[in-house]
Amino acid sequence: MTRPIRAVIHTAALAANYAHAKACAPASKVFAVVKANAYGHGIANMVAALPNADAFATLEMPSARSLRALGVTQPILLLEGVFSVAELQLCAEQRFWLAVHDERGLAWLETTALVCPVHVFLKLNTGMNRLGFPAEQAPALLARMNQCSNVASVTLMAHFASADDPEQGVAAQYARFETACAGLDLAKTLANSAALLAYPETHHQWVRPGISLYGSSPFSTQSATELGLQAAMTLTAEVISVQNLQAGDAVGYGASFIADRAMRIGTVACGYADGYPRHAPTGTPVLVDGMASRLIGRISMDMLAVDLSELPKAGVGSQVELWGKNLSIDDVAKAAGTIGYELMCAVAARVPVFVE
Ligand code: PLP
Repeated sequence: MTRPIRAVIHTAALAANYAHAKACAPASKVFAVVKANAYGHGIANMVAALPNADAFATLEMPSARSLRALGVTQPILLLEGVFSVAELQLCAEQRFWLAVHDERGLAWLETTALVCPVHVFLKLNTGMNRLGFPAEQAPALLARMNQCSNVASVTLMAHFASADDPEQGVAAQYARFETACAGLDLAKTLANSAALLAYPETHHQWVRPGISLYGSSPFSTQSATELGLQAAMTLTAEVISVQNLQAGDAVGYGASFIADRAMRIGTVACGYADGYPRHAPTGTPVLVDGMASRLIGRISMDMLAVDLSELPKAGVGSQVELWGKNLSIDDVAKAAGTIGYELMCAVAARVPVFVE
């Protein structure tokens, strides 16, 4: 008997969201960003859902090698490049594409004997100040790369800090990139999901959506449904116990919830060790047998409580959707003071995953 909690991955939704990205940027190629185990959805599930993806982008060498082991023949980009000379060698052997974002990475490229030249994404800092060379150095860096026999091609790359925020937008970073790269006749890649959806001028040759492929909205002002995206993961668990409360009774650790009337509550087999956010407050939405209800009290490691007072038919065995097809992960994230990205990435390894 397994614990009654499951994450269901919706293959058709992953495929539809990728097709949506292709339709939004018809003149560009689309990297499927699959870092963090495909944002918690499973790299293998993503590969199976997108047999014809243009390319994949991920973070670290083991993840890139997993993609190859799964049979991916398309390009695989390492978004942060390599972390050692040995990894650079592997990159060449495995034909991975790599970002080069600092002097150390460039020096490795210039001084290492590689089995074959590599495709380089020259990462430029346009204002996020996380990774990248100052954008204005692009022409000089390019001159160095042109002298380097290890470089098969160069694509110019930058990342937006606030494409998801209509007030801040991308204008300043976009202008800095375009000015610095004016006259450089090279492929370019700028757009994450938010820029893909909101700023067509940033599409260039390659776009790099992550979150939109998983059916979550990058914007707080527009829902995934409004954007035409489909939830790719549904997290459900069952009610495993029912408690009847009197006014004044408390629920859970810290007695943080006190009933102000007689209530029925259900204890659900999902806790923070499954990836549910511990800081989700009373009132966070859940669906019980498809009907709207709310979280009650503090999340435990393995359990949480939901209000069944208005749902007389609900009881032990009722299905509780914590997020997914019928309850937007973004609404749950908002209630918990976080973002859909964090919730989907946090689903724990102990949660059984089913693919449909
Ligand atoms: N490109 C880079 C360099 C990233 O770090 C990320 C994710 O953080 C993405 C693309 C995808 O971003 P998003 O999930 O917002 O579409």
